[in-house]
Amino acid sequence: MTSFENYYLQCPCCKSWLTGKQAKSDSINQSLLYSDGMIISDLQPISQQKIVLCPACAAFFWRHEQTIEKDEAVLQGFHAYPWSSWHLFGCNLLSNAGRKALIKHYWYVLEKIRPLEEKQEIVIRKSLLWAYNDLYRDALSFSIKDVYNDKFSLQSWLNLRLFHKKNRLFFEAEQAEFQKNLLQLIALTEKTPEPDAAELAELYREAGDFKKAAELIETIDRRTHFINSLIKHIQKGERLVFKVAG
Ligand SMILES: [Zn+2]
Repeated sequence: MTSFENYYLQCPCCKSWLTGKQAKSDSINQSLLYSDGMIISDLQPISQQKIVLCPACAAFFWRHEQTIEKDEAVLQGFHAYPWSSWHLFGCNLLSNAGRKALIKHYWYVLEKIRPLEEKQEIVIRKSLLWAYNDLYRDALSFSIKDVYNDKFSLQSWLNLRLFHKKNRLFFEAEQAEFQKNLLQLIALTEKTPEPDAAELAELYREAGDFKKAAELIETIDRRTHFINSLIKHIQKGERLVFKVAG
């Protein structure tokens, strides 16, 4: 199992304390890596949330620029808002409504946060892309075999199938917005000093531009497991995220 350690953040606006938890790097195991760069370990994303909505005063703040991390002992006597109240804006990803709400939060952040530097916009748009891909990501390995293997009871499996179906319907309904975000993310990534050709090829693939994705792959000399899998998915004209390892 992955073990976690606590950390503390302070809202620069109202000075409230927020407590969080992060995976101890030496305990991360059973990680899953997906083609869009998302890494999940024990059902939790490994990457840290960069922008926080304060549960006390509802101000957004960037944690890496404006926060102080404190030792637990320093905080004795302080009230700290729990991780569940601010992590992923408090959205419960085990419900269909929570997954939709997370996407709406990212769109809201993009609209409201000013000033917004291009590298910050990339962070938010990438998080938004992940939130969209989360609508079907964990359904990729879901099959009736899980019932035969006693992983789920039939009733739990049916409930989960309905959950995945609702997420997928929302993903289909949001295609115009999904594409809008992806194209803007591509444009911003191309403007960075040294854009990674494999990462860009993956973004173009997800956007359905297989010709451009194939052109980018041609510029890469290395042939890793990821690059080979990417080529196969481009050749088949498949847009959905796939599991690279784990
Ligand atoms: Zn605050």
